[in-house]
Amino acid sequence: MLSDVQKEEIRRFAHRITPKSWNVVLRLEDEIKKPCVLNILLSIQGPKSEVFTDHFGNKCYPCESKDGIKYFQNRYGDVFLKSQVKPALGMVSGRMVFKDPTPSGTKCKGKVGKITIKLWPYLGDWKGTLIHELAHVAVYRYNAFKTREYRKKALFKNPWNIDSKTLLIKKTLLREGHHGPAFQRAFSTLAKRAIREFGAEIPADDIFWTTVRYELKQYERRRKY
Ligand SMILES: [Zn+2]
Repeated sequence: MLSDVQKEEIRRFAHRITPKSWNVVLRLEDEIKKPCVLNILLSIQGPKSEVFTDHFGNKCYPCESKDGIKYFQNRYGDVFLKSQVKPALGMVSGRMVFKDPTPSGTKCKGKVGKITIKLWPYLGDWKGTLIHELAHVAVYRYNAFKTREYRKKALFKNPWNIDSKTLLIKKTLLREGHHGPAFQRAFSTLAKRAIREFGAEIPADDIFWTTVRYELKQYERRRKY
């Protein structure tokens, strides 16, 4: 288990590289319920809640056959052995939800948003993982404003039990793909900000440099063709 100091170090990293209106918190009670604030709950996970994915990042569910053989299966029905799946280092959990920060009837522009990022920091490079997940959040937020979908009322069950307006991102994701151009731009912006803010503090042999530079280079190459 991570200490509170270590958790705070992770939160601070995310908070410093994200826009001013983003509020990264470790506890629900630290959320800021003001218009246009995006609260990001950073939920630090342990081995018990590990989530496994296949080579393409699809979630794989643990299964057991009648003979007691344990295996994993993704939603397409593909079957994998334990050695063929890997635990996710991080993920954006659920949808981004928006709600009015003040009781209805008051004149108030802008909504307060919230989303959860789950992180398994002991599994690998948490900094690179966090940048990656925050880039997904940036795309969700960008799409929310672009499509104005969040204005539409939708029935949506959520763990916070609030009457929320939800953003349906599925269509955009299908069109653009999981790591399309908007994601790549967001990743580059966040990664460069992380290097500017923390580059001097991160040791030269830290795995961060390998993972983040690799991912940056991959996206730059893709953009050229
Ligand atoms: Zn991703």
